[in-house]
Amino acid sequence: MIVVKVGGSAGIDYDAVCADLAQLWHSGQKCILVHGGSGETNRVAELLGHPPRFVTSPSGYTSRFTDRQTLEIFEMVYCGKMNKGIVERLQRLGVNAVGLSGLDGRIFEGKHKDSVRSVENGKIKVLRGDHTGTVERVNTHLIALLLDAGYLPVLTPPAASYEGVAINVDGDRAAAALAVAMKAEAMLLLSNVPGLLRDFPDEASLIRTIPAADVESYLEFAQDRMKKKVLGAAEAVAGGVGRVVFGDARAGQPISAALAGAGTVVQ
Ligand code: ADP
Repeated sequence: MIVVKVGGSAGIDYDAVCADLAQLWHSGQKCILVHGGSGETNRVAELLGHPPRFVTSPSGYTSRFTDRQTLEIFEMVYCGKMNKGIVERLQRLGVNAVGLSGLDGRIFEGKHKDSVRSVENGKIKVLRGDHTGTVERVNTHLIALLLDAGYLPVLTPPAASYEGVAINVDGDRAAAALAVAMKAEAMLLLSNVPGLLRDFPDEASLIRTIPAADVESYLEFAQDRMKKKVLGAAEAVAGGVGRVVFGDARAGQPISAALAGAGTVVQ
């Protein structure tokens, strides 16, 4: 079983990802797809007059401040446009894909964090009314039911809090929790860069391999959102996933290439 996470940034070629995934699926490989939608969510939020607000925590992680209205826009895009667009592509390629969010059947479950600390002009502020959290539990039973019946799960945030409230969770770390819970042999984190770059954005500075025991020491090379990917990779390998690859989803055969060792391989 492999878990493929495809991001939501500009430049990602979903047709290429789906065509490659369909080929792999038809060859008998069990897969689960997790996707993002941040780029499109930002665009739609602007159009709806509720532009995105990003906060940077004192430890340097950037996240989306998700008030109720943002959560609704987030769901429209992630669970609606993005999820159904991917499911439609896979259906056209003969794969019986089922698109679900982490809320459905509590596939992704975690603690609701209502407030977030944000560094603004050098000062730490506490913002309340945030709908975020981190995935702590995965409903493996539901995923296994789908896989055993021949369906390809296409999953997306939000997750469900323990109280049943929708929470925005990081897709890379949700994919990592899923890969660990499903005992995946590999997890691919596909984005709009060739992999983890030592000297971002210089693509020639691609880091080819990272020893599994050493992933967290590579956090220093990742800026902003890439940090969550490195963290997700560390959580996955620590949880027993054999291999994590940061791969390029902009063209070609993104999944086959990553499985063949293109990108940054954490092993
Ligand atoms: P996605 O939504 O596709 O999952 P993100 O936008 O969250 O991806 O994260 C990938 C982005 O991280 C890249 O587009 C790049 O701008 C940024 N980034 C920061 N540091 C690095 C780095 N060292 N190597 C590669 N990308 C990096």
